[in-house]
Amino acid sequence: MSYFLDESPREECGIVGIFAPNEDVARMAFFGLFALQHRGQEAAGIAVSDGNLMRMHKDTGLISQIFHPRTLVDLQGHYAIAHTRYSTTGSSSIRNAQPFMIETMNGPVALAHNGNLVNSTALRDELLHSGVGFSSSSDSEVMTMMLARNGGDTWVERLKHAMTLWKGAYSLVMLTRDCVYAARDPWGVRPLSVGLLPHGGYAAASETGALHTLGCQAIREVNPGEIVTLSDKALIVTQAVKPAENLARCVFEMIYFSRPDAVWDGRSVHQVRQNLGRELARELPTEADVVIPTPDSGIPAAIGYAMESGIPYNDGFIKNRYVGRTFIEPTDSLRTRGVALKFNVINENVLGKRVVMIDDSIVRGNTTGPIVRLLREAGAEQVHLRVTCPPIAHPCFMGVDMGTYDDLIAHKRSVEEIRNHIGADSLHYLSLEGMMHAVGRQDGYCQACFTGRYPLEVDLNSAKTGFEKGIA
Ligand code: SF4
Repeated sequence: MSYFLDESPREECGIVGIFAPNEDVARMAFFGLFALQHRGQEAAGIAVSDGNLMRMHKDTGLISQIFHPRTLVDLQGHYAIAHTRYSTTGSSSIRNAQPFMIETMNGPVALAHNGNLVNSTALRDELLHSGVGFSSSSDSEVMTMMLARNGGDTWVERLKHAMTLWKGAYSLVMLTRDCVYAARDPWGVRPLSVGLLPHGGYAAASETGALHTLGCQAIREVNPGEIVTLSDKALIVTQAVKPAENLARCVFEMIYFSRPDAVWDGRSVHQVRQNLGRELARELPTEADVVIPTPDSGIPAAIGYAMESGIPYNDGFIKNRYVGRTFIEPTDSLRTRGVALKFNVINENVLGKRVVMIDDSIVRGNTTGPIVRLLREAGAEQVHLRVTCPPIAHPCFMGVDMGTYDDLIAHKRSVEEIRNHIGADSLHYLSLEGMMHAVGRQDGYCQACFTGRYPLEVDLNSAKTGFEKGIA
């Protein structure tokens, strides 16, 4: 649910990689990142190489706060990688901001990563015992250090070797003096695509929308287990590791994370979300006067619900897009007013009406109640909540922060108890079958946060900040 900061499953990260001869790559990376800001708002960075020297700028905050025209002028080169972060492993401090850039015996290397390794603790301990030190608590630094130590004549060989040891979700971009590499884990958990730039060169990005922003054509996915090399030679594709038999694309990308203009696994995310709404309407027909979305991620599904049910669609809320987390979180009184600070109900659209409200998810369940109350205060006669996925009863270990078992309302309560808790007249979650029908596949997707069946072995006790033992 996008409307309240504590409630949402937090976005993971967005990454960009560019090779563009004779172009301002830093500025291009900036615009690529801008298209991915929704995937992480805690920190961002750009690293650039001119074929000889590598330079980087990163900081905490929003992309527009971190980069200014002067900062970008200092980042000259033809090769760039960029990252916008929400922390999944490691806290949100500056030392965990990406890319990670280090000098190695094979020259400088920088890495930006989206996802979460499930075996990073063991890999990090191994490095620590062999004398490697760390400056952060991020699994991406573990990956960077492994690349620095790996033998092999080329960076592709070093990356390939590391990919045989990494278990979990990683879509990454890596920068060396004269190349950008884009690679994806064999389960294909997080999205990553590449495309041809209009004036020569290539770009890679977490979502196809960012590639369209850069004017890319001939866009293709980096397939599970592949390394794609972006350089002044033709695009080189290497199948580094075999794709997993149980591919595990994150179905939550379809439900919530990706922008609706993204195309993933050959499917339009907007279309999938409309299908989710249609499925909801089919599963539990409901007598109502108006269908409203929770802005903004509920919009395509609410349109689909309205088309299928014949109930008119309308806006129920005006969202203030400019109220940021930083201003809401520090004080309790403002936090409790969070929903009202961010949303105003359009009274005439709900007054005296039976309202169906479409939402993409309920995670902790502490803000759905206030939003239902807002509708009632505005005069809604009935509020029926419809959710475009099944109850989230299990945490994610592949790069999405949904909290722990204790945080998840659906782990602790039945659907009827949740309905009672939020004060809706009725509550229906889309079934697993309905969700996958809307996606258009029954397999190849991770659904672990709904089923508890993880595609890889996970440590159920691992915490996001598990590495932070000795440094604050
Ligand atoms: S557990 Fe849920 S959020 Fe995590 S990768 Fe699987 S589907 Fe995505």
